[in-house]
Amino acid sequence: MLSAAIQMDETCMNTEKPQLGQPPAGRRRPRKSSVPDASGAGSKKVWTHKLNRKVMYITVVVAVAATLAVAIANANRPSLYAVTIDGEIIGYTDDKAVITEIVWRLSEEESFRVGAEAVPSVEVDCQKIKWEKGLEVTDPDELGEILKGRIQFVASGYVICVNGKDVVALCSEEAARGALDELRQNYIESIVKAGHATVEEVLIKEKIDIVEQEVPTDLFRGKQEAVEILTRGTDKMLSYVVQRGDSLWAIAQANNMTVEELRKANPDLEGDLIREGENLNLIVPDPYVTLYSREIVTYTVSIPYSTQVTYDDSMWPWQEEVLQAGKSGEKEVIEEITRENGEEVARTKISEKILSYPVTKKIVRGNKQVPEMGSGELAWPVQGTITSKFGPRWGTYHRGVDIGAPTGTPVLAADSGMVVFAGWNGGYGNLVKIAHGSNMQTWYAHLSDFAVSTGQEVKKGDVIGYVGNTGISTGPHLHFEVHIDGVANDPLSFYK
Ligand SMILES: [Zn+2]
Repeated sequence: MLSAAIQMDETCMNTEKPQLGQPPAGRRRPRKSSVPDASGAGSKKVWTHKLNRKVMYITVVVAVAATLAVAIANANRPSLYAVTIDGEIIGYTDDKAVITEIVWRLSEEESFRVGAEAVPSVEVDCQKIKWEKGLEVTDPDELGEILKGRIQFVASGYVICVNGKDVVALCSEEAARGALDELRQNYIESIVKAGHATVEEVLIKEKIDIVEQEVPTDLFRGKQEAVEILTRGTDKMLSYVVQRGDSLWAIAQANNMTVEELRKANPDLEGDLIREGENLNLIVPDPYVTLYSREIVTYTVSIPYSTQVTYDDSMWPWQEEVLQAGKSGEKEVIEEITRENGEEVARTKISEKILSYPVTKKIVRGNKQVPEMGSGELAWPVQGTITSKFGPRWGTYHRGVDIGAPTGTPVLAADSGMVVFAGWNGGYGNLVKIAHGSNMQTWYAHLSDFAVSTGQEVKKGDVIGYVGNTGISTGPHLHFEVHIDGVANDPLSFYK
């Protein structure tokens, strides 16, 4: 104990630390009393008495020495400082210069980053405090990290203000103007790329100011980033990496968006196709600025040709001859289109110039009437059963009778006449029309095959085709119509 107290005393007085238990030789202060040798002289009694007194004496010396030691130790310890940011203690140091150095270095780094002289916007201070139990100096590296995370800086920047709102700061007026120019330039490029247009004018609708002012360095951006922020309407970035099994709907749902918003945020998306690992933007652009453009677009439009028909009595109605092929013309149209952020808001025609005139198609069509060929008494066209009669049916009008019969059953001409049509006709499928004279025609629909061709003369009872299921039909049957003066009549009224 004594030895320890003395040793501590010596340790604190020296700047260089001696080895524990081996005080430097010759430095020990001579003492009146010391622990006697085990081989000390004198009688046992006297010795005990002397020992008791010595113990007391030693205790006092130890107490004094210890108090002295602590006092000297503290007196010789370097000063302790609490490091504060705006009054809040963030650590302790015994070297104020280290803090000054860190703050200076961080300021330099921030200045370099933003390209303008950055100064802390918070107050970093070192306040001398007393050493107390439990206090220790914070590791300088750790202090550096804390300061880096906590110190905010301001710098004089050129702030782009949109309608009075500070949006982004740049380090120079030139950079700020450059960002706005680039914004316009990008817009022009996107329009020219999309529409083969020439852009006459691009304006920003909002009130834009470039103001030199001291702003938090957080607001500083490079030119490119400034353009992106102005376009996107936020400095936030939020994206999502597509996982296996994802759908646009599920991703939108999970991020409180609609699929439409997700598409708006990712204009490059095509259809519903997303690939695993693809990066989707989750911020719907809401630009700070509205780019207004006037562009001139020139395009050519086709002018359709008209058709002129003349009639020839020597030709049958199904015969047609092209006298002159038609050809479309072309005109050049110049329009002015006004857009806001790419969306068309107005379009005005400036001029129209015909590049080539259309050439009229000229045809001659037959007008020769089918002679009286029918007997007026119709034969039943196919063996089968009537499955649906003439008249209103399912909300429409059934213009004939349906006769159910197996596919391939021969279909007969109901009367003599001329085949005026044998071919495909939409819902009728394969259709044969026979003209009998006296403006009477019979029609045979849904045929599986033909036995006659257009222009052919047929006799009553001749096979003209075969029952089928072509066109709009729900099973093999013949749909049979009888026309008088172009109007469908009830076929059954012709059979007595
Ligand atoms: Zn029918």
